Amino acid sequence: MVTANITENPAAGNTESRTADTRDSERASRRPETNTVSTANFRCKRGIALYKRYAEKIRRSAPHTYLVPSQSGKGIYLVYMKEGEECCSCPDYAKHHEKDEEGNETFFCKHYFAARLWKARSAECAACKGRYLTRHLKEAGEGHLTFYADDYLCGVCVPKHGLGEVA
Ligand SMILES: [Zn+2]
Ligand SMILES: [Zn+2]
Repeated sequence: MVTANITENPAAGNTESRTADTRDSERASRRPETNTVSTANFRCKRGIALYKRYAEKIRRSAPHTYLVPSQSGKGIYLVYMKEGEECCSCPDYAKHHEKDEEGNETFFCKHYFAARLWKARSAECAACKGRYLTRHLKEAGEGHLTFYADDYLCGVCVPKHGLGEVA
């Protein structure tokens, strides 16, 4: 069991509710950040929790760009996912982000991990090109003239193209 050492401290003016994060920064002030593996592991776990809570609210707003609700759900952060150029609009990223010698980002916040999970569990609608969780998409199936059998379609596009209803 790894112990998470964190120094997360929401910056002033941040819209997130303080309760959970205040407890975290109190814990962090007692334990200086020394082990980057355990902090990454900790943020990854919080990212998984964030994904589980807000999977239905995460959106892709532009290529490589995802909108992820803050822990409290009151704010929203913009996560850029392009490999090597990953960044987030959250205070945790602003405080800790760092690049390696090749110029690749090496810091990943919980919003990044939540966005990555969402991306892995979503796919593009072959008709409107919007990205949706695969559980809301329907495969086009055999015999369709416009789409390949393994193309996915969203709930809006399915009836438009005569593919029935999406659960
Ligand atoms: Zn973030
Ligand atoms: Zn669509």
